[in-house]
Amino acid sequence: MDLKRYISLIKAGEVAAFPTETVYGLGADAWNPDAIAKVFEIKGRPSDNPLIVHISEESQIEAFARDIPAAAHQLIEAFWPGPLTLVLHKKPEVLDAVTAGLDTVALRMPDHEKALALISQSGPLVAPSANKSGSPSPTKAKHVHTDFGDDFPVIDGEATRIGLESTVIDLTQSVPAILRPGSISRKQIEDVLETFVEESFFHQPEKPRSPGQKYSHYKPKAEVRWLEENESTDDVRTLYLVQSSSVISSNVIQYNGELDRMAKELYDRFREADLENFSTVAIQPFDDSDPIFGALKNRISKAIG
Ligand code: AMP
Ligand code: MG
Repeated sequence: MDLKRYISLIKAGEVAAFPTETVYGLGADAWNPDAIAKVFEIKGRPSDNPLIVHISEESQIEAFARDIPAAAHQLIEAFWPGPLTLVLHKKPEVLDAVTAGLDTVALRMPDHEKALALISQSGPLVAPSANKSGSPSPTKAKHVHTDFGDDFPVIDGEATRIGLESTVIDLTQSVPAILRPGSISRKQIEDVLETFVEESFFHQPEKPRSPGQKYSHYKPKAEVRWLEENESTDDVRTLYLVQSSSVISSNVIQYNGELDRMAKELYDRFREADLENFSTVAIQPFDDSDPIFGALKNRISKAIG
């Protein structure tokens, strides 16, 4: 299918999946309540979990957000298009289905040619990850087909470059707060804003700052756990993700400290573990050597538990 076909689908109030630099998104017209209802239905997503609006031009934030602080412009200048979602005060006309009834709205501009080409013609899209709620986010078109069927409309791209969902930062409080870690780190954001940035993504199911925080995400069916310090890597029913190992075998995947590569592959490994009936994914702890460290550790911790 060529791009025109997907644009028509979206304009007709249907949904279609598309690649971004983070994960594949399930796109629907951000101004069409029926289309957005389909997103929740297809995903099986709880309705109190808000959606991120994806835009292709900076000026489009004006239609969704009000009282935009200077910090937003600084972050946009530094990181857009890119894997940073800004939570801002919403305009009254933004649909409740988008914000789950909150008075804030989340916005980002993806850094992906195909995503931007689609959005520039369809208009702003809500786009949660294109997976069934509860399963790992899709980083390849085939993951979307696994979850939604072979005929599901997906704009095919390569495997996504980053592989973990965007950093979400709330700019509506007196102190900027990271609600979800991503490949853009707190340090990178603090360097741009020249101010302290809080992290509030620790698991507090009763008091989530961000509604998505109370849901278990990113989990395969296999049990995910950390590898013990002197544990051997020879159980055939376990998929091992390690930094280095003296034992070479088909179920021991080595990353040699390349955390970017590990992040890019993580959800694919989780899905592969289930397809190949591994009972366990054991991950060797790794050092904080890269901006993506926090996000990678966060997703693994969530998968563990
Ligand atoms: P997903 O689309 O699955 O990557 O998830 C989007 C996530 O963005 C949600 O689960 C929330 O954590 C966050 N989010 C979206 N909108 C808001 C908002 N208005 N306030 C706080 N967090 C939000
Ligand atoms: Mg998701």
